[in-house]
Amino acid sequence: MSDYSLYLKSLHNKTILGINPPVFDFAYFDFWAKPLGLLYILETLREQKNSVYLIDCIYEGRETPKTFGRYKPLRRKVEKPACYSHIPRKYYHFGMEEEDFLERLKKTPTPDVILLTSGMTYWYPGIQWCLDRVKRIFPHTPVLLGGFYAQLCPEHARTIGANGVQTAPLCLESPYPALDLYNQPEYGVIMTSWGCPLHCQYCASKLLWPCFRQREVEEIIHEISFQERIPTVRDMAFYDDALLINKEFHFYPLCGRLRKSFSHLRFHTPNGLHVREIDEKCARVLFDTGFKTIRLSLESTDPIIQKASSEKVSEHQYVKAVTHLLRAGYSQEDIETYILIGLPGQRFESVKNAIEFVHSLGAVAKTAEYSPIPGTMMFEASAQKHPQLTTEPLLQNNTAYCGYISKEISPEELQILKNMAHHIHNPLETGGKNIV
Ligand code: SF4
Repeated sequence: MSDYSLYLKSLHNKTILGINPPVFDFAYFDFWAKPLGLLYILETLREQKNSVYLIDCIYEGRETPKTFGRYKPLRRKVEKPACYSHIPRKYYHFGMEEEDFLERLKKTPTPDVILLTSGMTYWYPGIQWCLDRVKRIFPHTPVLLGGFYAQLCPEHARTIGANGVQTAPLCLESPYPALDLYNQPEYGVIMTSWGCPLHCQYCASKLLWPCFRQREVEEIIHEISFQERIPTVRDMAFYDDALLINKEFHFYPLCGRLRKSFSHLRFHTPNGLHVREIDEKCARVLFDTGFKTIRLSLESTDPIIQKASSEKVSEHQYVKAVTHLLRAGYSQEDIETYILIGLPGQRFESVKNAIEFVHSLGAVAKTAEYSPIPGTMMFEASAQKHPQLTTEPLLQNNTAYCGYISKEISPEELQILKNMAHHIHNPLETGGKNIV
């Protein structure tokens, strides 16, 4: 067990403040994003008789909710860091503004410990922004930094002014995340499993959860029940990386319970589903259980890129999966397929072919720009060409890296591909196959 876990286990009768920082980036969208790890820790600490508080700078700095409880975060244009000066894109602070943040800190009882979480490695300016203000209001309170950035870039994270950094996965277990610390949350979040049995060369799943583990159905139901009791919760996002693996023994029994107990909730899978697992029965179960948002991981139709993607899906398997989903009752717009852009060695034509392939089946392509993640195999390849990636996490930003650093694809080509993906084709109009 890490020192960080031991330290948290030693906390009793303390006041603890958890903070989810604002995001500094070129773009940010809410794909049902909540700081799940921090919420589990806060619940564990509450069960150890501590008083826990939460400031979520993204949730509390938002505009009105949009589809299925998602919302648009407030944004303000800010000056770009020097390493982005050549990038002709606006850079924003997303989430709560300074005045509101300071006000919230002042209204919180002086904490004994502050737990600051982190997301993408290149969002660390949001952490620095929080640290500066937190240290002003609570100069004597230790701040511990956890989350993905802390685990993936521990050396860098140790330099930004926190008193401690969580560099390894935590061993704390709590029965549910402390979602009730939010004021009227619109959606809950759940992970029915940790990690993924596959090993794609660009993915951090194995680094964050070295062992793939599926949870007991009863444990999951208990956790959803807790969140569903909050009257404003109508949607539930599944954060799993591998929801459908071992589906006969995990997903199907779970869906049986979901249908029985939570037929009023809508379910969403913002992380891509494993396409080859979607047969006729699986598509029907997804639809009948109330899964509204389906995201599929195709990534590419290029054999070289597919190899780097654990060969997790063939074109044939993808065609079958989309056919089954449409037949089960989903519309084109319900099914979005992730296509990666900007992987090392990937060319414009390769991405264009993948988008056209998806459109030809009447599905919607959703482009995702590649971000080199430290510790992954593909990061090593990227860092050989661009050594500065290893010392400056800002350069790992998907917008910066894909369009302006790697130059695998030019900014103009990138825009063409994004425009292509946004345009939903009607297969009948375009002469493509209408497969249903
Ligand atoms: S299948 Fe998805 S979650 Fe699993 S290793 Fe590949 S990219 Fe990561």
